[in-house]
Amino acid sequence: MRTPIIAGNWKLHMNPEQTAEFVAAVKDKLPESSKVESAICAPAVDLDALRKAAEGSNLHIGAENAYFEEEGAFTGETSPKVLKEMGINYCIIGHSERRGYFHETDEDINKKAKALFANGVTPILCCGESLETREANKQEEWVVGQIKADLEGLSADQVASLVIAYEPIWAIGTGKTATAEQAEEMCKTIRETIKDLYNEETAENVRIQYGGSVKPANVKEIMAKPNIDGGLIGGAALEPESFLALVNYQD
Ligand code: PEP
Repeated sequence: MRTPIIAGNWKLHMNPEQTAEFVAAVKDKLPESSKVESAICAPAVDLDALRKAAEGSNLHIGAENAYFEEEGAFTGETSPKVLKEMGINYCIIGHSERRGYFHETDEDINKKAKALFANGVTPILCCGESLETREANKQEEWVVGQIKADLEGLSADQVASLVIAYEPIWAIGTGKTATAEQAEEMCKTIRETIKDLYNEETAENVRIQYGGSVKPANVKEIMAKPNIDGGLIGGAALEPESFLALVNYQD
């Protein structure tokens, strides 16, 4: 049985003070981690505040990006080794904003996945097609290509512990959610791809989230789909009340 994981992606929002206030408002109302894992992925400058505020609670902590080198002359980057030392559980890689604005390639993302695993931080690997690709009905081919390239050289055990987030770019921050059927269809394709690349056990264990305008009003319908194990959520994870409604969707 896969434990659902609902993770917020704060993007470039929140400062350490707001982070502490947010966590204080949610920390005693989160579900048991064995029922639903709740996580917040925050900007690097907020991670220390997030970790301190979340201590002793059910909130898991993630970064939004990391570099593939642990240390060296790489001005402005975040070390996966230091994330581990700070007690960070997850790190988003391959978000479409990073692929688009910062020109990250599948090769970079693959190196980042390897570096995170080497340091005991679980990647949340994002994939997803543009509107143009979907209109050309090439979305499956596109996403399968991303998955194959991003996972190259990873072991079955590593992939089994990974979180994959299917995020169609046209649904991110647009208010335009993919239908639960469209989301399920792609998450199923991703699981089948993992089965082809690895084996059935790995495919059954890997957790696959949907991301793209998930909110309290649609989370239940999305989470009811058999191949969807969670959500990666931007806008609706910025307010404590809305985040609590999302992570407590089973109530
Ligand atoms: C995201 O940032 O990964 C995301 C899915 O954003 P939103 O929920 O705002 O569409």
